[in-house]
Amino acid sequence: MHADVLTRWLPEAIRACYLIAALLFILGLKRMSSPRTARGGVVWAGVGMLLAVLATLLLPGMHHLGLIVLGIAVAGGLAWWSGKRVAMTDMPQMVALYNGMGGGAAAAIGVFELVGAARVAAMGGVDAMAPAALVLAVLGVLIGAVSFSGSLIAFAKLQGWMDRRFVFPGQQVFNVLILLLAVVLGGVLIFAPPAMAVIAGFLLAALAFGLLMTLPIGGADMPVVISLYNALTGLAVAFEGFVLQNEAMIIAGTVVGAAGTLLTQLMAKAMNRSLGNVLFGSFGAAAGEAQAIDGAQKEIEAPDAAVMMAYAERVVIVPGYGMAVAQAQHKIWEFAHQLIERGVKVRFAIHPVAGRMPGHMNVLLAEAGVPYDLIVDMEDVNPEFPNTDVVLVIGANDVVNPVAKTDPASPIYGMPVLDVVAAKQAIVIKRGRGKGFAGIENALFYADNTRMLFGDGQAMAAQLVSELKSLDA
Ligand code: NDP
Repeated sequence: MHADVLTRWLPEAIRACYLIAALLFILGLKRMSSPRTARGGVVWAGVGMLLAVLATLLLPGMHHLGLIVLGIAVAGGLAWWSGKRVAMTDMPQMVALYNGMGGGAAAAIGVFELVGAARVAAMGGVDAMAPAALVLAVLGVLIGAVSFSGSLIAFAKLQGWMDRRFVFPGQQVFNVLILLLAVVLGGVLIFAPPAMAVIAGFLLAALAFGLLMTLPIGGADMPVVISLYNALTGLAVAFEGFVLQNEAMIIAGTVVGAAGTLLTQLMAKAMNRSLGNVLFGSFGAAAGEAQAIDGAQKEIEAPDAAVMMAYAERVVIVPGYGMAVAQAQHKIWEFAHQLIERGVKVRFAIHPVAGRMPGHMNVLLAEAGVPYDLIVDMEDVNPEFPNTDVVLVIGANDVVNPVAKTDPASPIYGMPVLDVVAAKQAIVIKRGRGKGFAGIENALFYADNTRMLFGDGQAMAAQLVSELKSLDA
């Protein structure tokens, strides 16, 4: 009797859990759209995922439960350990790696299903898989495998394990041929009874395509690529969810796919690059010689810089990757707070691709306790620079480089930048004459109204704080 009730109600209970998990994913994602609620959003989505996994373990006919729990414990432990240890500046490669794992897992599910169908076909069985499931399994393997190998290359590049770009003559034609091979083998799997050799060839061709497609991409395009692979992983998971008829996978995959697609579009727009150009163009290989920059960099000392800002009416602070390296966010907020107490109108301006991951600067400023209403986006702040007395740039380089507007031969030409050069005065904190991510000279540093405050971001911010204190003493 008990067993009967259980058989009848368990599938319904699991469905209900999936529905609640789906709601938690969507609401969690919604909360992630604002820094105020983002932390809670991550927890909500995490609870949803936990619920979906637990419900899945209860599915009737589940085998090897011990092995599954062991796998979850080992992988979960590793993820927990590495997530706790990772430096904020290494977060993009971490995202690439985890995303790759998702794509790989989706591809593995598809391969497993195809191998099962091949076994049935080898024993003379027919229609081992429904046609729609077969098509989706093949598509899921293709997309998931591309995302897996592509993300691993993105990880290796961002980690500094590989040269940024790898190009050879005829590369694009070669890549198209590999993709064609994968598509043809995928077609064979769909239209002929699946065979082991074809499955292996198909998987290898898909993995090779992801690898080859990512090798030539470098420079500032990597965040867009990671975001695209994120969308592909979501799509692959949704396809394999259809194959397994698992609602949680379908919904989670669709949500990730949609969010990844939107983020890809937003990032490509922030860099003024079309997706096709990112994937098949050649960043860093702009035609012609970049224009030479005239003038010299003029230095300033911390006491003078502090006085300039103390007596200014409006100050805008522009953080960049160097602020993350120096972990200067707390000191710079302390300095900004002192200025505000003196009656200076202070705001923080954030470029959408400042740092090394989307939202990098927002996270750091939130961590330091900067109120959200002091943070402004590029579109809102750019018209205000001509009326700004002093802009304090801390560790930003590419995102404030005016050549993006003035030099068509520059590799970053066309990328929208913060118009710091239009402000009355600019002070730039950086350690020396090091270049930014794109590896080019910055015309802002040579402008008449710019002064360089050379030194580590945190040390310089601390000096500015103590100089302001001594002014008040
Ligand atoms: P950049 O990487 O262009 O420049 C950072 C600057 O910080 C360098 O010039 C460096 O100069 C300085 N710096 C480094 N360490 C310190 C330190 N300890 N103290 C003070 N200064 C320091 O940074 P931006 O934020 O301006 O631009 C981001 C770039 O990264 C863009 O090209 C973007 O496309 C790319 N990108 C963005 C991603 C994203 O999603 N946000 C992901 C991947 C790439 P010096 O050595 O002289 O100190």
